[in-house]
Amino acid sequence: MKCSFCNKEIEKGKGMLFVKKDGKVLEFCKSKCEKNMLKLKRNPLKKKWSAKKNK
Ligand SMILES: [Zn+2]
Repeated sequence: MKCSFCNKEIEKGKGMLFVKKDGKVLEFCKSKCEKNMLKLKRNPLKKKWSAKKNK
């Protein structure tokens, strides 16, 4: 499975699963990704650390 935020491959047994109220399941490789997706509602493509350069 892949991280819902940075699209990085997550190893089995690692990462975290989040189920939204609408039933949609999100998977994250690390808490940083979870925070960005859920709290900051950032667009993954605009994050410097997940997409090195946006130009
Ligand atoms: Zn991630």
